[in-house]
Formats: sequence, structure tokens, C-alpha cells
Amino acid sequence: MSARVAISFQESAVAAQSIKISGVRFSLFLSEATIQTRVAEIGQHLSRTHAGLKPLIIGVLNGSFIFVADLMRSITIPCEIDFCKLSSYRAQRVSSGTVQADLLIASSLAGRHVIVVDDIIDSGLTLHFMLQSMQTLNPESMTVVALLHKKGALKADVQIDHVGFTIPNRFVVGYGLDWHQCCRNLRAIYMLDDEEP
Ligand code: 5GP
Ligand code: MG
Repeated sequence: MSARVAISFQESAVAAQSIKISGVRFSLFLSEATIQTRVAEIGQHLSRTHAGLKPLIIGVLNGSFIFVADLMRSITIPCEIDFCKLSSYRAQRVSSGTVQADLLIASSLAGRHVIVVDDIIDSGLTLHFMLQSMQTLNPESMTVVALLHKKGALKADVQIDHVGFTIPNRFVVGYGLDWHQCCRNLRAIYMLDDEEP
């Protein structure tokens, strides 16, 4: 796979109906407005369930960085943020099934009400590994939030407390989600088309 990714969209194309990346077409799946409405709903909900608890939000890098920034700003109670990074995907469209820890969490989780924020749950293996590691750090509670959840793809036994959108088992990009590290800056989410005509 080439390291170069050719993308045929322009700055104005952040709201385009479809984009082409290295000859592969993706179609608009979730608009910016749809995403923002749902993110605000989850933020309001967490503000109620975690009132008085000063939750520690842990964003799972890289994919959740935009979601977690929007989510945190829609939370109206005092809260803190830290990040952790794991990777299972490498440069593939399907999960490799192996999980590698790239970064440890700097904050102490002991006694904290932790809200883990992930971009997308596919097999769930990444999250499963991460939650198990976090449990050993003795948090008071753990709440899992995922923007996207691929229906039927779950292979690991994980409980997801809040899902933004349940989506078909297809590859998506945008709003933090990448294609070979590209496309994270798209404001909407695009889904890989079935077949090129
Ligand atoms: P899992 O361990 O659940 O199979 O994979 C989780 C991670 O794989 C996600 O956090 C995300 O980084 C990546 N991933 C899974 N599905 C997709 C997808 O459709 N598009 C992109 N860009 N990344 C995905
Ligand atoms: Mg992720």
C-alpha cells in the first residue's frame, strides 16, 4: 500500500455528498449537524449522571480527539481530560485482531469516575484490552462512550454505555476517523461505497 493518499476533495467539499480517496469513493453518511446534535445529547446526559463527581474523561487517541473535544464542551459540569493511545488497525480496512499499547495514561484513575471516550467500536478488542488495563488502576466507576458502533462486528465482551450511532459494518472516515491518517479533518462522516461503478 502506498504511503501517499490522493484525495479529490477541496476545502469546500467538507459537506460534499461524496469524496474520492485514492480512487475509492466514500458517500456522506452522517452530516455535521446530525453528529453535533447527538454529541450534545450525550454531553447533556453525562452532565446529569456525573453531576458532583468531577469525572475524568479519557479520550482514546487518535480517532476520538475531535469527538472528545466536542463532547467535553457539551458537558456542563466540572470535568478533567486525559488521553490514552492504543492501536489495532495499522493500515488495514479490517481489524487485525491484535492490540498494542502505544501510550500509558498519565493521570491516576484510583477513586475517579472515568468516562472512556472512543471513536468507533468494531470488534471491540481494542476497548476490551484497554478497559481491562484501566480496571487494574482502581477507578471508582467506568462509563464507556463510543461515537459509532458497528452492528454485528463485536467479538469482545465489552459493555458500551452510550453509543452515538449504530452503523452498518462498513468502513467510515471523517470527524477524527482516518484513512491512512488522512480525512480526520472532515466535519462529516463518510462511508465506503460498496463497489465502484
Ligand atoms: P476494534 O478493536 O473495535 O476492532 O477497532 C477499534 C479501532 O479501529 C477504532 O477505535 C478505530 O480507530 C479503528 N476502526 C474501526 N473501524 C473503523 C472504520 O470504519 N474506520 C476507521 N477510520 N477506523 C476504524
Ligand atoms: Mg479508536
